[in-house]
Amino acid sequence: IYNYAAGPAKLPDQVISQIQEELPSVQGSGMSILEISHRSALFENILADAQQDLRDLMKIPDNYHILFFQGGGTGQFAAAPLNLATNHRKIALLDSGHWAVRAGDEATRLGFDMDTLASTKNIQYQSLPHLPENQNLDQYDYLHLTMNNTIEGTAYHQPVRPINTELVADMSSNFLAETYNVTDFGLIFAGAQKNLGPAGVTVVIVRDDLVHKVENVPSILDYDLFVKKNSLYNTPPVFPIYTAGLVLKWLKEIGGIDEMQKINEQKSQMLYDFLDQSKLFTNHITPSDRSLTNIPFTTGDEQLDNQVINAATEHGLMSLKGHRSVGGLRASLYNAMPIEGAQVLVDFLEDFEKHYQG
Ligand code: PLP
Repeated sequence: IYNYAAGPAKLPDQVISQIQEELPSVQGSGMSILEISHRSALFENILADAQQDLRDLMKIPDNYHILFFQGGGTGQFAAAPLNLATNHRKIALLDSGHWAVRAGDEATRLGFDMDTLASTKNIQYQSLPHLPENQNLDQYDYLHLTMNNTIEGTAYHQPVRPINTELVADMSSNFLAETYNVTDFGLIFAGAQKNLGPAGVTVVIVRDDLVHKVENVPSILDYDLFVKKNSLYNTPPVFPIYTAGLVLKWLKEIGGIDEMQKINEQKSQMLYDFLDQSKLFTNHITPSDRSLTNIPFTTGDEQLDNQVINAATEHGLMSLKGHRSVGGLRASLYNAMPIEGAQVLVDFLEDFEKHYQG
């Protein structure tokens, strides 16, 4: 079975085996990770290890905090404005698709002003919107950017440096899949359930000078409080943090994010190369904006797309249905997807095309 789901998504086989092995007794304690106290020294070590491994992998400088929240990316759509948009109460947005719009809507709902500075909605998000040249953004508390658009299949691979404001990045779907320079960002957040672990934990990486005491922020979303309590203000998601820790160790063994990026480029290129020469399937995204992790494609015929999805499922190629808002197919090739997973998919699509009598 190969699982191409967009999230929750495949975890590394090695990590699943380790969990199975350690489930009755974590680190020889005689207790399961599912039942240990978050105040135990055992868990505090697991947490500290996960933070240090993430710091090493992403080269996160000391003036950035690593925090673990619940509430997913959606929780951070609220937390980011509540904690950071305290000066102007005004946020700039590049509309690159569904999740960017959702982030903007949440900020608006909470009473913040939100300006969409550019959008590619009119071309079905087939390429990325960019900032108008030299635009001074000093009237905004930050610019919100969706680094990888999970549904549309685009990603900002180059650094974006807004003038006179902070950059807030939703990295939910390409976190640890490609290298970014953390110092380009004021805040990075990512739900774990694509490249880091199971659903239930959300990583926040935030620069120290952006964290300050804000009245009326719900405690559960309060960056300042979570810094002071080292993410142990209330009961954290113990199992997802433990699993994320194992995934981070696995990623270190592979050689880190640069090495992972090369593998991800290889996997995605295999599929894009096939799609670009295919007479049946098409990916509509401008090549330079294509995502490494989420690849949508279609035959252009809904019925035929469904036929392909059903045939794929029969072959053990699971969860290839595109997001309901765009239809078609989508293959998510996150870190844990082996190269064979991309090859098997290409072979299947090639075979389908060969035998298809249109
Ligand atoms: N941002 C992006 C880019 C996503 O892909 C998703 C979910 O798929 C979200 C945010 C929402 O995340 P969550 O479901 O963890 O709230």
